[in-house]
Amino acid sequence: MPRPSYPLSILEFQQRFGSEEACREYLFASRWPDGFVCPACGSVRAGEMHRRRLLWQCKDCGQQTSATAGTVMHGTHMPLRTWFWAAYLVATHHPGISAKQLQRQLALSRYETAWLILQKLRRAMVAPERELLKGEVEIDEFFLGGHEDNLKGGRQHGKKALIGAAIEVRGAGSGRLRLQALANSQATTLRTFTQATTAPGAIVHTDGLFSYRGLDKLGYEHRPRKVASVAPGEQLLPRAHRAISNLKAWMHGTHRGVSDAHLPVYLDEYVFRHNRRGTPMAAFQTLLGLGATHQPTTYRQITRRAA
Ligand SMILES: [Zn+2]
Repeated sequence: MPRPSYPLSILEFQQRFGSEEACREYLFASRWPDGFVCPACGSVRAGEMHRRRLLWQCKDCGQQTSATAGTVMHGTHMPLRTWFWAAYLVATHHPGISAKQLQRQLALSRYETAWLILQKLRRAMVAPERELLKGEVEIDEFFLGGHEDNLKGGRQHGKKALIGAAIEVRGAGSGRLRLQALANSQATTLRTFTQATTAPGAIVHTDGLFSYRGLDKLGYEHRPRKVASVAPGEQLLPRAHRAISNLKAWMHGTHRGVSDAHLPVYLDEYVFRHNRRGTPMAAFQTLLGLGATHQPTTYRQITRRAA
């Protein structure tokens, strides 16, 4: 059986997740779409033992299983409803929601709670992005930040971050996107980025930068183009350029003051939003960690990363 469907409108969301009970049932159905299975012995006979803590105990071997294990909700004392609504807001709010807005929308008494929820949901944006791009891909690198972009932290000192972008060609439009901070624009770095984002066999479009040479030896059909060959009014790599300029606008408008340490998190968030721009409601499941296999983030990991 597939995972339970996701709601298609805010009204449907409200109707479906109006109570703790409803969220609990959805959580259970997402974790065990075919009914409870004990992870220790495979038994399907379970008795609910601690309703509020969402614990189930196997009737055969006694193993206790938490319904929130492996999700972002694990180990927190926040009501499921708060998590569900936070994931909904983060997934559907365009171009993104701040901790302050989240605090207000969910009527949370502490800003820190909203911030922590937001960081946890953001971390869930990383894991699903590992599949390699296929078909035809534009690859480019660009600078982000520096004085004119008004970013705080490390890059206020005129320091810019080099970002690699890889984006699928889908007819006149764009497919999936990958972004990654790069150490430099040397050949080994750009090759590693290409191999980390794009499947061998793909047609790879780049500009004429020397560092891109040799991609054909790595199993790609490399089609470099010189800037001089581009007609006036035409873009060399139009999809990559569109993604990059949208990213810059988004970083500037929503996330002023991104430090070096947080940059990868924001790049991941941007990629997540870009790749799910057609199905934002489906993204709420992914944000909650329902059906995902990655480990939930602890407060320690987040605060250490923020430091
Ligand atoms: Zn068991």
